[in-house]
Amino acid sequence: MRNAILRLTGLQKTFPASGGHGQIAAVDDLDLTIFAGEFLAVVGPSGGGKSTLINLVAGFIKPTRGEILKNGLHIRGPGPDRVVVFQDHAIFPWYTALENVAYGLRRQKLGKKQILEKAYEALTLVGLVETAQMYPAAMSGGMRQRVALARVLVLRPDILLLDEPFAALDAITRAHLQDELLKLWADCGWTIIFVTHNLAEAVYLADRVVVLNPPPRGLSEIVEINIPRPRARNAEQLILLAGNLELGINTFTTNRRTD
Ligand code: ADP
Ligand code: MG
Repeated sequence: MRNAILRLTGLQKTFPASGGHGQIAAVDDLDLTIFAGEFLAVVGPSGGGKSTLINLVAGFIKPTRGEILKNGLHIRGPGPDRVVVFQDHAIFPWYTALENVAYGLRRQKLGKKQILEKAYEALTLVGLVETAQMYPAAMSGGMRQRVALARVLVLRPDILLLDEPFAALDAITRAHLQDELLKLWADCGWTIIFVTHNLAEAVYLADRVVVLNPPPRGLSEIVEINIPRPRARNAEQLILLAGNLELGINTFTTNRRTD
């Protein structure tokens, strides 16, 4: 039996329509259970509500209707237990790698020595301990994204929310970071929700892939990727699975008006 860590029930989030009349649903009537320790990928067309889903679970925005329970408790706002990494690495250019990672710990009541220890530990995890004193301007895109990852890892989350984290990277760096993420996931026991446009990436990484379309279609598919790990990146089964997903994705991006 798999343990549920997140239960999303009847989840709806609407935003004011751009013309100024009524509301448009970004996510509507979404039911989804996410299991502790699983790697869940979310794919689907632009405007399908993927980032909205991430922001809801992160607690950055509140549902219009429905609920999100984490281990049976309502999510009422952001918390260090659920951290987000975006595509455009949110790191401070005026801080070194080390200072960027330490920044996240400032709100916790820790001594300077403890902060340094934890920050170094996180930098070690992402393979950046040698470049702790480097500034973002001197780093490659891949290094910056590693700093962004270290910055949230240091908080010891149990849920990692990744919104197209590797989309801006070249293919080789992207493949490296995918494998590093898989290693970290195996070591740290996180639950991961990973949004991507890249179907090959989704099937390579995930235990399950969900397809999220704009309402009214919503969640149209849940595909289990029952392929043992470590996986071969270009295994025929993975290519077939990615191809099937592509066929199932609706490219219409009309969101339902709720007025
Ligand atoms: P995805 O990440 O799948 O591309 P989003 O969750 O960003 O989709 O957006 C889903 C829909 O919600 C889109 O139609 C988008 O325009 C709308 N939306 C998202 N955030 C806001 C916002 N803050 N204000 C108004 N509309 C928004
Ligand atoms: Mg998005």
